[in-house]
Amino acid sequence: MGKNDKNAGWTRPATEALRASALGPIAEFDAASTPGFEGDHGYGTQLLAERGEVLADLQELLYANGRSGDHRSVLLVLQGMDTAGKGGIVRHVGGLVDPQGLSIKGFGKPTPEELEHDFLWRIRKAVPPAGHIGIFDRSHYEDVLPVRVHNLVPQSEWDGRYETINEFEIDLVETGTTIVKCALVVSKDEQRKRLAERLDRPDKYWKFNPDDIDERPFWNDYLDAYQAIFDRCDSDTAPWYLIPANKKWFSRLAVCELLISSLEKLDLQWPEADFDVEVQKKRLAASD
Ligand code: AMP
Ligand code: MG
Repeated sequence: MGKNDKNAGWTRPATEALRASALGPIAEFDAASTPGFEGDHGYGTQLLAERGEVLADLQELLYANGRSGDHRSVLLVLQGMDTAGKGGIVRHVGGLVDPQGLSIKGFGKPTPEELEHDFLWRIRKAVPPAGHIGIFDRSHYEDVLPVRVHNLVPQSEWDGRYETINEFEIDLVETGTTIVKCALVVSKDEQRKRLAERLDRPDKYWKFNPDDIDERPFWNDYLDAYQAIFDRCDSDTAPWYLIPANKKWFSRLAVCELLISSLEKLDLQWPEADFDVEVQKKRLAASD
């Protein structure tokens, strides 16, 4: 297994095995599964370290091109129920690359100012600049998740958002941003365990939010809301992937692999020198 063997461990490419449209209903999805991957925790963790080097090289290439005038960027959209591990992806996958080239943005409950604008206002301001990998920890999809489950706006309004989102994402892709959307899927039992752990460990209290328990009775409504997203907003232009998240090592490996695929598709080369290399070598040799 070398770091350039992209199929090591994978029996099918992650882009195929995890694509939402290729998997069944989210309500029947096994959050402890590892679709397309054969390997255990130890192997997956070792592979993540190796693939992380490939990701870091590709990210540097993207950044270098951005510095040289290329307008392209990559946006990783992370969604998932509380405790699904979105923060862990930011830390353990985002943490594999040079932080200078990352634009990380989390979206919480909209502020009064944000609520005065349309729901994409705060999103548009946060799209990654040229050469960056952007990570959204929650996103515009919140506006069809809790907003839909609790009818925070009337159905007539949230129902129109799927199409608005599709148009927004098409625009983004056309202007050079590759979008990779990952829904981390944790089971309800696993969420209970993770919430219990937050209550048992003083170093995890800060992560606990009593509101998270209030959302558990709405679990199936959230699954329906996720299903509507996959049915209406999963396209080859801006694909959705289902990431089983009961095994954290797998969700991190899977997201890393999806990012690598999207960067490889950009087919980036190192930017040409915009100076005469030989002339500069001579000048350097002649300098003190
Ligand atoms: P956390 O990610 O744990 O900091 O929590 C952020 C909270 O903000 C979650 O409960 C989200 O569901 C909520 N949230 C984020 N965006 C929206 C939105 N557009 N409308 C309503 N709630 C939202
Ligand atoms: Mg939370």
